[in-house]
Amino acid sequence: MQPDSYRHRGLRRTLVEELSRKGIRDERVLRALAAVPRHVFFEPAFQDHAYQDKAFPIGEGQTISQPYTVAYQTELLRVEPSHRVLEVGTGSGYQCCVLLDLTPHVFSIELNPVLFERTRRRLELLPGHAQLFCGDGSVGLPEHAPFDRILVTAGSPTIPRGLLQQLRVGGALVIPVGDEQVQRMMRVVRESEDEFSKEVFEEFRFVPLLGRAGWPKS
Ligand code: SAH
Repeated sequence: MQPDSYRHRGLRRTLVEELSRKGIRDERVLRALAAVPRHVFFEPAFQDHAYQDKAFPIGEGQTISQPYTVAYQTELLRVEPSHRVLEVGTGSGYQCCVLLDLTPHVFSIELNPVLFERTRRRLELLPGHAQLFCGDGSVGLPEHAPFDRILVTAGSPTIPRGLLQQLRVGGALVIPVGDEQVQRMMRVVRESEDEFSKEVFEEFRFVPLLGRAGWPKS
């Protein structure tokens, strides 16, 4: 794994300034993005791309999300240090590490077994420990519910009911919902046992959420 260096930290500071100019305000989120080395999630040949505000292919037809998107979703999630957080779509593990900077209680599930294995090995070398699972996260992780926060990092056709049921009262789900071209970021808060409130934010473009509550595999 590529070591972290002054140069990398400098590049991260510049990236974080850019995210702040683009509207990310939460200091804890900006600090988390300044702390987590993003270049370790890239193959050595592509390291130069790590500190640009861009998504990038990670193999298996998947991408590491754009830093702005990671910061945006993390800001909406409003994670507290005591929170149990579920991430659906581990991918490269980058967002997972950003969450670990905010709470030690992170669960993350990835459907693709090749990515799961690669990312599991990478995350073992980094500080903090998330509980990683390989499987269909569109139906959540019922055996570890309830969660204070659930973050979906793939585009979903609907808001999966199973995920709402796994939120603690007062808990929140952040999820991009739409067709396969474009999705709107949504935040759903569980106000009581059977009441939910929904807010709608900006448009994004994610890879599709597959699985039972996602898109059928094409
Ligand atoms: N959070 C990731 C972004 C990953 S892209 C990162 O920081 O790199 C979305 C990921 O969701 C892909 O790895 C894809 O394989 C995964 N995915 C798609 N459908 C899924 C499902 N039903 N359950 C779990 N993971 C899923």
